[in-house]
Amino acid sequence: MKSLLIQGYEVVIGFETHAQLSTQSKIFSRAPTAFGAEPNTQACPVDLALPGTLPVMNIGAVERAIQLGLALGSHIAERSVFARKNYFYPDLPKGYQISQFEIPVVQGGEVSFFLGDEKKTVRLVRAHLEEDAGKSLHEDSALGGGGMSGIDLNRAGTPLLEIVTEPDMRSSAEAVAYAKELHKIVTWIGICDGNMQEGSFRCDANVSVRKPGEPLGTRREIKNLNSFKFMQQAIDFEVRWQIEQIEDGKAIEQATVLFNPDTGETRAMRTKEDAADYRYFPDPDLPPLVIGRDWVERVQSEMPELPRVMAQRFQTQYGLSEYDATQLTQSVALANYFEAATKACHQPKLVSNWLGGEVSRRLNQDEASIDACPVSPAQLGLLVSRIADNTLSNNAAKQVLDVLWTDGGEVDAIIEAKGLKQMNDTGALEKIVLDVIAANPKNVDEFKAGNAKALNALVGQIMKASGGKANPAQVNELLKAKLN
Ligand code: ADP
Ligand code: MG
Repeated sequence: MKSLLIQGYEVVIGFETHAQLSTQSKIFSRAPTAFGAEPNTQACPVDLALPGTLPVMNIGAVERAIQLGLALGSHIAERSVFARKNYFYPDLPKGYQISQFEIPVVQGGEVSFFLGDEKKTVRLVRAHLEEDAGKSLHEDSALGGGGMSGIDLNRAGTPLLEIVTEPDMRSSAEAVAYAKELHKIVTWIGICDGNMQEGSFRCDANVSVRKPGEPLGTRREIKNLNSFKFMQQAIDFEVRWQIEQIEDGKAIEQATVLFNPDTGETRAMRTKEDAADYRYFPDPDLPPLVIGRDWVERVQSEMPELPRVMAQRFQTQYGLSEYDATQLTQSVALANYFEAATKACHQPKLVSNWLGGEVSRRLNQDEASIDACPVSPAQLGLLVSRIADNTLSNNAAKQVLDVLWTDGGEVDAIIEAKGLKQMNDTGALEKIVLDVIAANPKNVDEFKAGNAKALNALVGQIMKASGGKANPAQVNELLKAKLN
């Protein structure tokens, strides 16, 4: 393996990701999980930790954990245990968080992805179910501000799956690629909406550095990274900071740090507790979680085709390169769009090129995703078939796409209305070619003298004379035949 050294140091990164599970109700209560409600309108007595209330396991959350385990090739524990993680904080009314400690529901597994053209595999330690805490509101808001802080317990009890990796990553770029792949998988199988702004997918990056061959260095944990851009910036800053400390002869102290996007710096929030500080013990209010083989098998039979399996199929079924197949399976929506458009024209490679090129460029401009593409897969397929059968030049096809994009309509009608039909009549074209040769003796002489560029000038003249409708490949062919 290539090792990436920064000033002679190797970077070591392990991730803990909190994926909010897309259930309607909370993990141990019936309160809704919808985002953005008025503070404290979605917290029921269980979430408020009122005396006498008891947690009841949400089956939907367990099912989503099973789905993730199956997607990542993990072991699904037949029996896992909920534990209390004890700490005091204003947004945690029970005084403990219900989590899983010694026996998590999902064990092992891995995430594979490409970093450039290098294939990487990050091993997972575990994924465990737990509840989210509430939120302290310090800034001006419905509850905070004016020197006061408020507590919003809407988020308390929201189901989370915490996905923990081995310290397998060796650069910020690899860490970001891992996070993107995991994000793709959880949204693909539909267990998490992946909305990072709303906190549905938050990553903690554990970062340390060491000289190659040395044991692992002391790590600092950057909390709650909620954008891929910040993730990269935060890790890069943290690595530079740690190296600087060590070079200055200072020791790294294990700590939890926060990234400030305004300064681009990480800053220690608190020295980190060890597991022992949390006095974990099995939660006596919840029986062990028992998952029978039949449940796992049913979930397995309902799993969608996973991205890497689909990418493999795209290569064999459509003859696409691994690169194209991987690009097309970045989201379910894109993959479905590709298949639908290809069905309409049987030109997978051309569809792939147009999706990756002209379509994605326009989507980027509109800041829209493929779900919001104004052109239907059927129309894109038809457009591609008009390129394939030589009705349209590439340029004319772009003009048709422009019209489809802004005004909608039907491909053949647009070609007709705008007179974009490519000239495929050899007789008419031949006449133009001969006229242009006759009118441009200078270019002809230059070409015959060995100046290849002179040919381009002639092609340009012919294209112009045909109103842009000549088939450029045909023009080249005819021109060369006449000149030789
Ligand atoms: P805790 O539960 O206290 O946060 P864990 O041992 O479970 O600690 O590790 C949490 C994360 O930190 C894991 O993703 C692990 O891979 C990563 N990690 C552990 N040691 C290191 C290290 N020296 N450098 C970087 N990451 C590390
Ligand atoms: Mg941790």
